[in-house]
Amino acid sequence: MKVLNYIHGEFIEPESDHWMDNLSPSTGDVIGSIPLSDERDVGNAVSAAVAALPQWSGLEPLERAGWLEKIADCLESKFEEIAYLESLDTGKPISLSRSVDAKRSVSNFRFFSELIRNLDEEVFEMEDATNIVKLKPVGVGALITPWNLPLYLLSWKVAPAIGMGNTVVCKPSEMTPLTADLLMKVVDEVGLPPGVVNLVHGDGVAGSSLTGHSDVDLVSFTGGTETGSKVALSASPKFKKLSLELGGKNASIVFSDCDMEKTVEGVTRAAFLNQGQVCLCGSRILVEDSIYDEFVELFVDSVESMVIGDPMNDSTQLGALISKEHLKKVEGYISLAIEEGGEILTGGAPCIPKELSEGNWLAPTVVAGLDPDSRCSTEEIFGPVVTIHRFEGEARAVEIANNTRYGLAGSVWTSDLEKGERVAGMIHTGMVWVNTWLHRDLRVPFGGVKDSGIGREGGRWSLGFFSEPLNVCLKHE
Ligand code: NAD
Repeated sequence: MKVLNYIHGEFIEPESDHWMDNLSPSTGDVIGSIPLSDERDVGNAVSAAVAALPQWSGLEPLERAGWLEKIADCLESKFEEIAYLESLDTGKPISLSRSVDAKRSVSNFRFFSELIRNLDEEVFEMEDATNIVKLKPVGVGALITPWNLPLYLLSWKVAPAIGMGNTVVCKPSEMTPLTADLLMKVVDEVGLPPGVVNLVHGDGVAGSSLTGHSDVDLVSFTGGTETGSKVALSASPKFKKLSLELGGKNASIVFSDCDMEKTVEGVTRAAFLNQGQVCLCGSRILVEDSIYDEFVELFVDSVESMVIGDPMNDSTQLGALISKEHLKKVEGYISLAIEEGGEILTGGAPCIPKELSEGNWLAPTVVAGLDPDSRCSTEEIFGPVVTIHRFEGEARAVEIANNTRYGLAGSVWTSDLEKGERVAGMIHTGMVWVNTWLHRDLRVPFGGVKDSGIGREGGRWSLGFFSEPLNVCLKHE
């Protein structure tokens, strides 16, 4: 499956004619080729976005909301194709691609269509004047996404960006181009005006050309913290509007008064969804001393019962890791955990499912006995590896939870909701769930603090980010 850049409504090859292989995470087979775009392709895409801006930004919000609805309908008609391509490209279980990736990609377009349809101008009355706040488009947006939730995250950016009247250039991860390509086919099929949405494939060369381009006014980036800091540097000389959604090392805090069965199930899901490759995954599990042994036994049983296998099987719960390089990095952390004095309670080794002979496979791994200050307990591993720690008392749980450079999310498990809310309020992150995890309402703000990023997207926060407020003050007679 060869994918092409999409510029000014046309699918075209990269100027350089340089390509890279697209490899299947689950088999290691070559499944296609991806353009390695450079600054020439980026320049062409940005020019197309600049040219399309006056007409697109001049449309009424209702008209743009109508376009989002058309894209949602067309995506929905390709629901199974989205799920198949996402599992093929990422190695994630097809059940997850259906229930999360395909579903959310459609609902992102529907949700923002509805929100924009109902957006009213704010008005502030003075004794002698009326203030109106108009939300204007920012201009040309650069939208850069990672490989773990390809279309889910791309649609999360494209929908509010174009809905608010911007034109965009997308740069999906070079590991997972297939559903971004499908979105361009959808945009083409519904007849969106050329240049409103453009896409260049490629690696950091294309990404950095885009964020540094002088005609780009806004950058919305989701990816790793180290890349995020390069993006911030490249966006800063022109004071581009910037949103960074970066890494996480999130704690799941388990109190002794939790509902044990539901907590074991919820904490297992939080730890290993998408092979632990979700920025929100609960990769540090903190368990109150009095239930530690009981919880650990049940948790390890739950982890060992997960079905690892071909991503295309309906019953598969754990698929493959994204790449050989990433697998090596995650395995490196397992070796480090042992060096740091950790005990592997389960996993720790590759586990290629029977029907497959190659691919990037690793058994879900639980490490106990590490110091909460150790590297494995504080650095983002972004794979199926969790550390588990004991604590006594709320204050110590909060101290350990906050003991990392990241501040994205967390979860608290207790039957006392007052305690849950109190503890959540002391965790220094952007999101905390109590007795659940990744329970998303699209109206709420999403984002992190510290090295997990800057800014918030989601609901009206996305509309705020993808627009510039203009205050018009009308003096009365
Ligand atoms: P990455 O930082 O390697 O790549 C992300 C994107 O940036 C890719 O499209 C890549 O090609 C591009 N890129 C690389 N170098 C660039 C540069 N110099 N300038 C501009 N763009 C550049 O991240 P990844 O490995 O694809 O994704 C995993 C990371 O993403 C993890 O750290 C994870 O926590 C994070 N993530 C965060 C969120 C969130 O919402 N906070 C969501 C998903 C993933």
